[in-house]
Amino acid sequence: MSAALVARALLSGLTTTEPLGSWSAPGRANLIGEHTDYNDGFVLPFAIDRRTHVALAPRADGVIRVASTFAAEPVQLPLASLTGPFPTDEVPEWAAYPLGVAWALIAASGADAASLTGVDIAIASDVPVGAGLSSSAAIEGATAAALNDTWGLGLDPVALAQVGRTAENDAVGAPTGIMDQMASMLGRADAAIFLDCRSLDATVIDLGFAEAGLELLVIDSGVQHAHSTGGYRERREACDRGAQLMGVAALRDLSAEDLPRARGVMDDVTFRRVRHVVTEDQRVLDTVQTLREQGPAAIGDLLLASHASMRDDFEISVPELDTAVEAAMGAGAIGARMTGGGFGGAAIALVPHDRVETVKDAATAAFAASGFRAPTLFTVTPSEGAGRDA
Ligand code: ADP
Ligand code: MG
Repeated sequence: MSAALVARALLSGLTTTEPLGSWSAPGRANLIGEHTDYNDGFVLPFAIDRRTHVALAPRADGVIRVASTFAAEPVQLPLASLTGPFPTDEVPEWAAYPLGVAWALIAASGADAASLTGVDIAIASDVPVGAGLSSSAAIEGATAAALNDTWGLGLDPVALAQVGRTAENDAVGAPTGIMDQMASMLGRADAAIFLDCRSLDATVIDLGFAEAGLELLVIDSGVQHAHSTGGYRERREACDRGAQLMGVAALRDLSAEDLPRARGVMDDVTFRRVRHVVTEDQRVLDTVQTLREQGPAAIGDLLLASHASMRDDFEISVPELDTAVEAAMGAGAIGARMTGGGFGGAAIALVPHDRVETVKDAATAAFAASGFRAPTLFTVTPSEGAGRDA
């Protein structure tokens, strides 16, 4: 059964009230631009063909109740309690995503919580959790779209992306950037979103994968290293320190010409962190230009350079991800790189259609030969962003 039907079935188990509608929002993959978002820089993500679905029915009592296939029990709160600080301690973590969206939406719209229609919300998803495909942005986007329509708030997709981020930062307590939510809200079929993380200017960039006979393969290592949280924080601190030493608001304000001076005013480790971010911003710009002028078959070297920079300068790769990239390239991928926060997670590879099975086999064999646990392999297709389905 599709996730959309599962959400409907879950809703009908909650209430006999007729559903108002169904909404969905996709996960995302990031083509290039890693650890640039919190440095006010550039990213190039796309929405994928895996979505989180929400079915919604009204309630007469001013209560919001959320249920998910992930959880045994629905969770409910009076909408009137969603003013002031979010009651994080009163809800299980998963429910802080959809209830946090309701809370952030009320604050962002200025709506009077006590006058809003109560809702039952049922959630089902086919976005894998924790595989670097942002199931969190998908649940936020689907809930935000559903409540924005149901309550007639009229927020635009960028405002809804900001609502999702507020929910994740302040209700869930995860310090993430805005990239995932923007990709999930604004995605287009066969296109990526070129996002300036400072201005939030978003431009749709045609990818043309299908026309060029290319597929984007995800190689999920399944690895989650214990030091990922500390490592992420250290990298953010190094970036802040680098910007401060260079006298700029964010690393976004530096370019390659500034690197010789940077080398002189900071220690080697900080310098290499800075160099990753500065060169990665440039690689995003170069990828956009290459896609426009030459098409997707020409971006392979930029993906590889991104991986090398994360491995050698930012030092967030792990043997599993290096192995994934090497195996993919050896089996005919035209580019590959690790994605996400680092210390585990997934790699992506851009692969000619007729080489996909060969690359999958090569990755599986290389992981086995190194004694790593078998990777999870699947292709993703650039797809439409969040919206109402029925
Ligand atoms: P990801 O990389 O998949 O975004 P996160 O840790 O950011 O990983 O978000 C995953 C969390 O989001 C899950 O642990 C869960 O709390 C919540 N979540 C995602 N999808 C669902 C869903 N369909 N139902 C309930 N909770 C979900
Ligand atoms: Mg997430």
